[in-house]
Amino acid sequence: GGTGGTGGTGEVRFDGVSHAYGERPVLHTIDLRLTEHRIGVVGGNGSGKSTLARMINGLVTPDSGRVLVNGLDVAKHGAAVRRQVGFVFTDPDSQIVMPTVAEDVAFSLRRSTLSKAEVQQRVDNALRQFGLAGHADHPTHLLSGGQKQLLALAAMLVRDPQTLVCDEPTTLLDLRNTRMVNALLRELPVQLILVTHQLDLLTDMDRVLVVHEGRIAADGPPEPTLARYHELVLGS
Ligand code: ADP
Repeated sequence: GGTGGTGGTGEVRFDGVSHAYGERPVLHTIDLRLTEHRIGVVGGNGSGKSTLARMINGLVTPDSGRVLVNGLDVAKHGAAVRRQVGFVFTDPDSQIVMPTVAEDVAFSLRRSTLSKAEVQQRVDNALRQFGLAGHADHPTHLLSGGQKQLLALAAMLVRDPQTLVCDEPTTLLDLRNTRMVNALLRELPVQLILVTHQLDLLTDMDRVLVVHEGRIAADGPPEPTLARYHELVLGS
């Protein structure tokens, strides 16, 4: 076992969350209770999706309202929340901290109570899962953007989080690796909150949220929600 990734889902709640960057309002009184296993988030550029995702791990603190993860206010208990929730964002450079691939994945487990041998085994498994086994000793700064994205995913998932929040995690990947990651994300026994432009990934989600101009414009099962998204954003 790890930190709770046993297939159960967490609860992520937004209670009256509003936010502005300077004078520019980007989220307007968001109320959400997310408990489903697989949740997709879609919306146009600049609609506020990344801001919403970043609030779940405290990278952005709301101007008003609260974000709660399993009852913990992220603004007050960020470290505890980050032990339960993994995050993978579009820019992998911001998440890679160690000089080599294997060290970077192992770094994720630095606070775990696992033995050295168990850490090694978990790291090996994670590297294999993401096709990085042959790159264990590779300097991280020499990886391609796509390899960095795979490394960021491996380093998050090695911790066996209860919930994984991904913001466009495959933008830098080639077709083969995009398929591999999509298949992994589909199978993982982890609660997934996935921001994506790949509409085909949303068709088998438990719930889809459409973010439009800083509001939740549609919310529900994939088919009617994506139909609404088409009307709203694509005007068809
Ligand atoms: P999305 O992920 O849907 O593209 P974002 O949440 O990234 O939307 O951005 C919403 C709006 O907030 C955009 O207009 C964007 O330019 C602005 N924005 C995002 N991050 C910042 C920031 N750190 N400082 C100022 N403005 C920002």
